[in-house]
Amino acid sequence: MFPGQVIFLCFAVVTGVLGVMVALYEYRRKRFEPEPTEDRVFRCDGCAYVYTDDHDVDRSRCPECGLFNSPFVF
Ligand SMILES: [Zn+2]
Repeated sequence: MFPGQVIFLCFAVVTGVLGVMVALYEYRRKRFEPEPTEDRVFRCDGCAYVYTDDHDVDRSRCPECGLFNSPFVF
């Protein structure tokens, strides 16, 4: 075997191992990271408490004082 072939084989093996490691890391990261939520942000008119609720909720009840609030627009 020529030295050039040995060097190429080593390079190919290292590149392949790195590729598999990156693929596994990406797979695990995607599996464990939570999906980005599109929850609405609410700010209570009564006690100024900031909280979130589902994106399909128009008016949400404040968990602190029970007042119903509209979504907070930034
Ligand atoms: Zn409140």
